[in-house]
Amino acid sequence: MPTISIGSTVISYTIEVRPRRRYMAIQVDGQQRLKVLVPIDYPLTQIEPFLLQESQWILRNVMTPTPTSPSVQKRFVNGETFWVAGDVVRLALTQAADKVSYVHREHDQLIVSLAQESLLLETEMVRAALVAWYRQMALEVLPARIEYYKGIVGRGPERLKISEYKSRWGYCRADGLIALNWRLVQAPEPVMDYVVVHELAHLRHPHHQTTFWYAVASILPNYAAQKRWLSDHAAELGAW
Ligand SMILES: [Zn+2]
Repeated sequence: MPTISIGSTVISYTIEVRPRRRYMAIQVDGQQRLKVLVPIDYPLTQIEPFLLQESQWILRNVMTPTPTSPSVQKRFVNGETFWVAGDVVRLALTQAADKVSYVHREHDQLIVSLAQESLLLETEMVRAALVAWYRQMALEVLPARIEYYKGIVGRGPERLKISEYKSRWGYCRADGLIALNWRLVQAPEPVMDYVVVHELAHLRHPHHQTTFWYAVASILPNYAAQKRWLSDHAAELGAW
């Protein structure tokens, strides 16, 4: 299936030839899958530029595929693996001494101490504790990366927001807001940096044309490898 990269989000789509059409069109079906309808003999090289032009609409209307493979779907159980800054760690669940759950990392273990007397299901408690821990990490790590790279890019955001998104790693708005997904801190540092530089570069180049990618490459010549890591692991990092 062909794919299109919009920012750091990779979206797959299908192409359907419609003999009676005169122009290309895009459609999203009930499962939020993207379809490109093309007239007969339409040059396929036109598809990608067209999709990029419609990228904002696509991002609003299409979700990146929800993972269904069992290795990707998290169960929040002992021994299950998670990514922390590019390291693979294993969950170790224990009972906390008090009424607050907390998480700490010890080498390749992510120890989740579960609060007593909670009304939540255990899996919900584990997830909530992990999300809080990753979010805290994102609040410590990502602003520092923005701070570092804004000196190199020559522009910084008006405002930085760290939030949770299912299908995007970040975005940059015309008013100078940059938003980053806390899920990014699961990725190796060079991958986080790629997204940071990607969004900072949008402050000057609010599009994905050649000049934009040239600006990214001038700072991170190896960015394609990081972009690939992100799309290879997007399902897993965004699945929970
Ligand atoms: Zn982008």
